[in-house]
Amino acid sequence: MTKDTITGIATGMTKGGVSILRLSGSRALDIASSLFSEDLKKAEPNTIRYGFIKADGEILDEVLVSVFHAPKSYTGENVVEINCHGGILVTERILEELIKTGARLAEPGEFTKRAFLNGRIDLAEAESVMDLISAKSEFARKSSVKHLTGKLSDKIRSIKTALLEKTAYIEAALDDPEHFSLDSFSIELEDTVEKALIEIQELLSSFDTGRYFSDGIKTVILGKPNVGKSSLLNLLSQRDRAIVTDIPGTTRDTVEETVERDGILLRLVDTAGIRDTEDPVEKIGVERARREWEEAELLLLVLDSSAPFSGEDRYLYENTAEKKRLVLLNKKDLPKDPSFDGIRGLPFSAKTGEGLKEMMSEIKKLFFNGELSSEDDIVITNLRHKELLQKTKDALEKVLESIHLSMPEDFFTIDLMAANKSLGELLGEEVKEDLVNEIFSRFCMGK
Ligand code: GDP
Repeated sequence: MTKDTITGIATGMTKGGVSILRLSGSRALDIASSLFSEDLKKAEPNTIRYGFIKADGEILDEVLVSVFHAPKSYTGENVVEINCHGGILVTERILEELIKTGARLAEPGEFTKRAFLNGRIDLAEAESVMDLISAKSEFARKSSVKHLTGKLSDKIRSIKTALLEKTAYIEAALDDPEHFSLDSFSIELEDTVEKALIEIQELLSSFDTGRYFSDGIKTVILGKPNVGKSSLLNLLSQRDRAIVTDIPGTTRDTVEETVERDGILLRLVDTAGIRDTEDPVEKIGVERARREWEEAELLLLVLDSSAPFSGEDRYLYENTAEKKRLVLLNKKDLPKDPSFDGIRGLPFSAKTGEGLKEMMSEIKKLFFNGELSSEDDIVITNLRHKELLQKTKDALEKVLESIHLSMPEDFFTIDLMAANKSLGELLGEEVKEDLVNEIFSRFCMGK
């Protein structure tokens, strides 16, 4: 473990009322004291001192300094935080002096990495610090806070403990068959493994839900000209919360609009084509249109139910049936054309907004089993966590298979240990140094 003292600007390089410089390491108190107007080594831990930062006899700023003693600090080491005035020049100048006095500029994420290496937090918790900082939606923010406070880690740890107990029992029984009997043990083991599998599957399933919540459901509005696509788009975006984002495409600009309704985020793709009122299917060719709708997670197929059901309508209606889609029988405020008898879809009016509520509840059914995740559900949003849970699941399924094939007990332990290893990796109990470095390098400076 490196014991050099690191420093960085915790508040980022922006102009604000206050900037915070952080120092962590065995020399944090010394270094800060040599610039501060009093000796911080004599200050009580967990207190804030008022004074000045001076260098070469010149006052650089009037500051407040917080003092934390190891192990009760963010990193688990001695930590000093200097609250100075928020100008970029002032902050940089103090940083320069801290480095001159013997601190090293911290790498991105190094403070949190030290917290992890010093056992203050586990890896899943450390990752949630980053997830929280980069959260894009209310949902993402809430779920990363849950992980930050250890809810995910607690769950993983309890699954792991249950599996570990069984592994230990098998090992003991193999070593000492006189005192530990394996009779009917496999029934007990099967029960534990099945329970663990259910919990892991729940976490795995939450990944997609989590992604839909945090990034939105990739949605394409489809239909021939004049059926009401741009009217639908306008209806959906009719809210202050609609965010319009321009995403430069490879061949032309695609415009995405993210709209939030009833807590559901819809990421509406290629809205430029719709707003142009030109028919996107015609404009970009059937092949490209098809590719776009195949990549979509949700299709909103708009049909004009007041006009005859045409060949084009039929083409779209029949060729999109395998996707998650909603057929909107638009213009329900007008008399229905008899050719629409037998066409299944949701009566809708983009003009009056009728059917919108039903549409959103259909989407809920398609993506969230009708229920939006309850407040206390733990949701996986990190790909690394998902992959490790998948590995755990595969290993546990092998354990079940061995039980069903009545294999000898030492067969089980290999897969049980593999499952434990994956769960341990998730918590960061057994990860390689380069992975740890890789994870923390994605952090921002000063965190
Ligand atoms: P797009 O070409 O598919 O984007 O269709 P538009 O949204 O531009 O709509 C074409 C025409 O249909 C416009 O005159 C709209 O006002 C009208 N329209 C759209 N939705 C409805 C609806 O629900 N009821 C009625 N009566 N007219 C609608």
